[in-house]
Amino acid sequence: MLHTLKTYFGYDSFRPQQEEIIRHLLQKKDALVLMPTGGGKSICYQIPALLCEGTAIVISPLISLMKDQVESLCTNGIAAAALNSNNDETENMQIRRSCMEGKLKLLYISPEKLLAEANYLLRDIHISFFAIDEAHCISQWGHDFRPEYTQLGILREMFPRIPIIALTATADKLTRQDIVKQMRLRKPRIFISSFDRPNLSLTVKRGYQQKEKSKAILDFIERHRGESGIIYCMSRNKTETVAQMLRKNGIRAAIYHAGLETERRNQAQEDFINDRVQVVCATVAFGMGIDKSNVRWVIHYNLPKSIESFYQEIGRAGLPSDTLLFYSMADLILLTKFATESGQRDINLEKLHRMQQYAEADICRRRILLNYFGEQRTHDCGNCDVCKNPPERFDGTIIVQKALSAIARTNQQVGTQMLIDILRGNLNAELKEKEYHQLKTYGAGRDIPARDWQDYLLQMLQLGYFEIAYNENNHLKITPAGSDVLFGREKASLVVIRREETKDKKQNKYRKVVSTPQLPLAGIETGEEELFEALKALRKRLADEEVLPAYIVLSDKVLHLLVQQRPTTIEAFGNISGIGEYKKRKYGQAFVELIRRFV
Ligand code: ADP
Ligand code: ZN
Repeated sequence: MLHTLKTYFGYDSFRPQQEEIIRHLLQKKDALVLMPTGGGKSICYQIPALLCEGTAIVISPLISLMKDQVESLCTNGIAAAALNSNNDETENMQIRRSCMEGKLKLLYISPEKLLAEANYLLRDIHISFFAIDEAHCISQWGHDFRPEYTQLGILREMFPRIPIIALTATADKLTRQDIVKQMRLRKPRIFISSFDRPNLSLTVKRGYQQKEKSKAILDFIERHRGESGIIYCMSRNKTETVAQMLRKNGIRAAIYHAGLETERRNQAQEDFINDRVQVVCATVAFGMGIDKSNVRWVIHYNLPKSIESFYQEIGRAGLPSDTLLFYSMADLILLTKFATESGQRDINLEKLHRMQQYAEADICRRRILLNYFGEQRTHDCGNCDVCKNPPERFDGTIIVQKALSAIARTNQQVGTQMLIDILRGNLNAELKEKEYHQLKTYGAGRDIPARDWQDYLLQMLQLGYFEIAYNENNHLKITPAGSDVLFGREKASLVVIRREETKDKKQNKYRKVVSTPQLPLAGIETGEEELFEALKALRKRLADEEVLPAYIVLSDKVLHLLVQQRPTTIEAFGNISGIGEYKKRKYGQAFVELIRRFV
């Protein structure tokens, strides 16, 4: 096993669990594997595929992901192909023939194609095992349900003797049970890796409006100069406005969403992978399976719809990295509407609720995340905003009373925006028409900026002083707990709002504390930088010759190792982690020659 790992993938040792999983599969037993994104799931079935007789069938939901995996296997000298609707017929014929001749070690296939081929091609070839990638797609309880996955259950019936390994990066307890049941796994062993990624910092910012978000994002990117990052947005429109805002400020940004033509999407992805743009503004669809080692930050412009989505998206960043999430009442209202109108109202509302709890937490955020995935922690992480800056509280009774009193005086007929206008004394047409400017509380909260009201109102919602009537134009309704504060029976304790950005300007203090100088070239002295650039150029030339993305030829990580170790013989080149036999023979000469010129 270790020999195969070294020969084909160029790695010296297995990561936790990989070896056990491989051994288990070699014994022809079923398994369910839970490993976070980037944990190294693929090797768990790719090595058994190489060691078993026959062809391993890998079911994968995304064509782009399949393409990536197959290219990467082929550049390691492993016979693999993908059958999907993107291929033309001659291509598919060829693949079918190779399968029948037993030439392929791995065949990637989409679920639709699999069902279509189940009675034909699959009957005629020697299958070593089935691997179901992104297995959570089978479960309605999973966050990325795909109806075509549900039919995969028939595999067991049709091929009772062939083992099945199901793999996923995100599955809570219910999803796990559902995968086992629907795939009809036989006494599967369940392998769960830790989901903890301690070097991923976690920060949430509450109640920011668009302008403030833009400013916070620019500050954030300024602190991550030269580092790639992703901004996830809820809508296609938003990806465009955010990208425009960035470009106006001199930051190279691309957009990526399902509404774009495939060609433009691929272009965006390639520009990002090859560092032609620094930022991608994307909807959730972006980033599955991309292997880009210098992604150093992820921003969520809007609240994600579930913790699974959130965790998977921040998982696209390498280590160490910073993540930032914006949380606003408007997002919450919109996502609640989506969840309510979805086919699975209760499930989606519950998932959103858990996400909301995360965003509102005043205890260590990592503990909440890990707890969600079934890992209990007894210690705070020290690398989230709550741990770094524990919330300070103050007696906010008067603030709460002002807000609740304004709600009460409108007969509870206003939403947050109107409420803030009343409190701030902003006269607008609707307000005037409803005569809210006659209310006693009109302008009573003028001393507090609107953005802070947004924050306090979110806190009040979290404390249960009012509820949002989603079925009544999102009007705010005072709860009994709210009444207690309003009528002076209870006190209300609020969290002090901190806005580091303003401090930043004056003292430049924040910058020093938070900035992580993790430039892609960090630690590389001059001269070394030139070598790195030269290696990159060579990689690009070789990749272009084969029409492959550059990172498939060699990853950035490998390039960094080359700069550090400067191998001057092909043998030494082959000893670099991530370079297997095949790449050694194919690329060794060219790279070694280049490095020699530098040494
Ligand atoms: P996942 O599918 O779990 O998101 P991948 O299988 O794509 O993760 O692996 C993530 C990265 O880790 C890949 O670049 C892979 O080559 C690398 N990797 C996997 N196993 C090892 C290992 N044993 N040693 C070093 N790198 C590894
Ligand atoms: Zn923490």
